[in-house]
Amino acid sequence: MPPISRPRGTEDLLPARLAAMAGAVAAGMRIANSFGYREIATPIFESTELFVRGVGDTTDVVRREMYTFPDRSGRSLTLRPENTAPVLRAFGESSLRELPPPVRLSYAGPMFRYDRPGRGRYRQFHQFGVEAIGDAEAELDAEVIAVAWDWLADLGLGGISLQLNSIGDAQCRPAFRQALLDHFAPHLAQLPELDRERLARNPLRILDSKDPDTEELLATVPRTRDFLCPECRDAFERVQLALRAYRIPFQINDRLVRGLDYYVRTTFEVWHEDLQGAQNALFGGGRYDGLSELLGYPAAPGVGFAAGLERVVMLAPPPVPLAPPQVVVCSAQETAVGLAVDLAQRLRRDGLAVICDVGRRSLKGKMRAAERSGAGAVAILGEDEVKSQRVTLRRLSTGDQVALRLAEASGQVREWAEASATEGQL
Ligand code: AMP
Repeated sequence: MPPISRPRGTEDLLPARLAAMAGAVAAGMRIANSFGYREIATPIFESTELFVRGVGDTTDVVRREMYTFPDRSGRSLTLRPENTAPVLRAFGESSLRELPPPVRLSYAGPMFRYDRPGRGRYRQFHQFGVEAIGDAEAELDAEVIAVAWDWLADLGLGGISLQLNSIGDAQCRPAFRQALLDHFAPHLAQLPELDRERLARNPLRILDSKDPDTEELLATVPRTRDFLCPECRDAFERVQLALRAYRIPFQINDRLVRGLDYYVRTTFEVWHEDLQGAQNALFGGGRYDGLSELLGYPAAPGVGFAAGLERVVMLAPPPVPLAPPQVVVCSAQETAVGLAVDLAQRLRRDGLAVICDVGRRSLKGKMRAAERSGAGAVAILGEDEVKSQRVTLRRLSTGDQVALRLAEASGQVREWAEASATEGQL
């Protein structure tokens, strides 16, 4: 029988990578919290309708990429492909909506998209993000970007650029959409199938096209910012002013429209120089003022971003390696097992990381394993130690050995660990 392997497009997060990811999330939560954001967790699955209505049934995500299944009573559920619609649903459904706006929320967790797996693209991936809900002030858009920017700086991630655009709102977007249609109308035959389809379904998405034939026509395409209504133009200027106040450099990118339907006005992405093509975005976000109503709740304008943690971790400098255990406690005889377990527990309570090796394997084998574990010391307990209620402690880097009372072991291990840390610095 062939061994069972993990599903295509998924990844096992082995300890080193998981630690890097958890470290990135912890840094993100800490920075978001310093801006007043508090963490929220929503279910991993939701009613399919939430995404169909919220994200939009003309989008690639909803049309082609959702993990949708009926549950045992026939309800259609979907593994969340993104977390803005769920967070907004949770906001609308809970006492959060009674708090003074904006309500600032952060989240991290797995998302699911049935996408073609590739470098930096998975079917289960992880996002860290924030949402600021209940406030339409343009300065809030810059605040959300500042959280992301400070977070990337904290992770030591360079080579990034902020791409900014405004895609207008229900008032001014129709004229822009029409201008796009008029621009492409004489050249439909030149467009590839997918872009013709985009033009028919969701014309703004054609700005995203990477097709060389379309690219040629895109060179002279109308720009959203020339079509903005006075309110949207004002908002776009305020976002830029606030970004300058935060000293965050940005590039206006007329072709940045983003894949989800709910965005209005500000859209942004952060790109990294090492990420190529369609996968160059570390994260993206924008304003979604009409989303709450689409979900059936009272108006709650908002803005947020979501960052792909796999991509962030791939590009951030490696974090401090995981610390090895400080001490291995070995029993040399079966009669010493009880004392060895007691000592291991006592050392753990004293705050040390301890491996307890009390199986029937020979002491020689245990010592060899201890050397490979990276621990600083080994505590050996045999019959003599049981009789004298002492422990033999050996420092692995030098071979020094001392016999101590059980209560003294923690202090000695810690002293050796501190000494090696100082030696490491020299
Ligand atoms: P989106 O919601 O599509 O704008 O995605 C926001 C961010 O999530 C992207 O910029 C990526 O960093 C990340 N992301 C989106 N889809 C995937 C995927 N299939 N695999 C890994 N990361 C992804």
